[in-house]
Amino acid sequence: MYKTKAYAAGSKTSPLASSTIPRRDPTDSDVQIEILFCGICHSDLHQVRDEWHEVMPTVYPCVPGHEIVGRVVKVGRAVKNFKPGDLAAVGCMVDSDGTCPECEAKLEQYCPNLTLTYNFPDKHKTAPVTYGGYSDSIVVKESFVLRVPPKLDLAGAAPLLCAGITTYSPLRHWNVTKGKKVGVVGLGGLGHMGVKFSHALGAHTVVFTTSPNKKEDALRLGANEVVVSRNADEMKKHAGSFDFILDAVSAEHDINAYISMLRRDGNLTLVGAPEKPMAVSAFGLIMGRHSLSGSAIGGIAETQEMLDFCGKHNITSDVEVIPIQKVNEAYGRLLKSDVKYRFCIDMTSLKSE
Ligand SMILES: [Zn+2]
Ligand SMILES: [Zn+2]
Repeated sequence: MYKTKAYAAGSKTSPLASSTIPRRDPTDSDVQIEILFCGICHSDLHQVRDEWHEVMPTVYPCVPGHEIVGRVVKVGRAVKNFKPGDLAAVGCMVDSDGTCPECEAKLEQYCPNLTLTYNFPDKHKTAPVTYGGYSDSIVVKESFVLRVPPKLDLAGAAPLLCAGITTYSPLRHWNVTKGKKVGVVGLGGLGHMGVKFSHALGAHTVVFTTSPNKKEDALRLGANEVVVSRNADEMKKHAGSFDFILDAVSAEHDINAYISMLRRDGNLTLVGAPEKPMAVSAFGLIMGRHSLSGSAIGGIAETQEMLDFCGKHNITSDVEVIPIQKVNEAYGRLLKSDVKYRFCIDMTSLKSE
C-alpha cells in the first residue's frame, strides 16, 4: 500500500478538505495512474452530501470523482495495453464480475456485482470503500482503464468519462444517424454533450430549453434548431416529428409534453434523474407506439468507442477548469447551474497541499 493526497468529505455536512488516503500497490493486472484532471459530476455532490442515503449510503471519508484523465506511472506484469507515460482514463466503474450475462454482453454497467469508482465496497480491502478521482493517484484493473486520443484537450476530455458516455450510449442504442430528428431536453453538463454527439452523428438536432438566452449557445454547440419549451406555438410546430428525444433534465418537469413530440415508434430516453416519480400519460405512449426508457453510462468497450469517436471528431466537453481549492465553491455554483458546462479540476493543484 502507498499513501496519496486527496480531497475528502468527513461527513455529510463538512466541506471537502485536503487529506491522505491509501491506494493498493498495483497487482499484476493493475495500472497505476497519476491523475491530471477530474471532472465534477452532479453525482459527486449527491454522494458527498449523502443525498442518496436510501440506495447508496455514503461511507466517510468520501473521495468522489469519476471523470478521470491521467498518465500511467506503473503497470503490473500482466498488463498488455498500457505502459508508463501513456495517457489513460477511468470512468464510473473500476470492476465487475466478468461472468454474468451483462458482462458477457459487454454491458458491465448493468452487472449486479459491479464496483463503482467511489463509495463502493473495496474488493481489495485497501480501504472500506473505493476512493475516486479527487486525488493524486489511482490504481485500477487494466480492463477498466481507457485510452485517451492524444490530440484531445485533456481537461475537456475528462467529463467524457461520465457526461460523455451517458449521452453517447443511448444515442447509439437508439440508432441515431443522418436523416433522424433528435431532440435534446435541457442544456447542462449532460445535455450539451448530447447536442455535440447528435450533431456529429449527423442527426437534425433540436434543443428544448426553458431559457431563451441559451439559444445562441445551443446553436454554437451544434443544434440545428432551438425550441423554447414555454412557448406553446413553438412546441406545437414540432409535435409528432421526433425519432428520438434525450431527456437530460434532473428537475421536475412534464415529460408528456415531450412524449407527444415523438413520431410513430419514437423513443424518449431519460438520463437525468428527477427526485420524485413522474406522471406518465398512457395515451401518450399508446398512440404512436411510443416508448419511454432510461439509460446508464455505457460498457467499457462502448466507452472506448466513444473516446475514439471524440478523437476523430475532436469532441470534448466545454469546461471551466478550477484548482482543487475551489471545489466547495464550485459545488455551490453547480447547485445554481452556474457553469458552462462542466467543472474540471486541475489535479496538479493538489500538489501544493
Ligand atoms: Zn457522473
Ligand atoms: Zn457481471
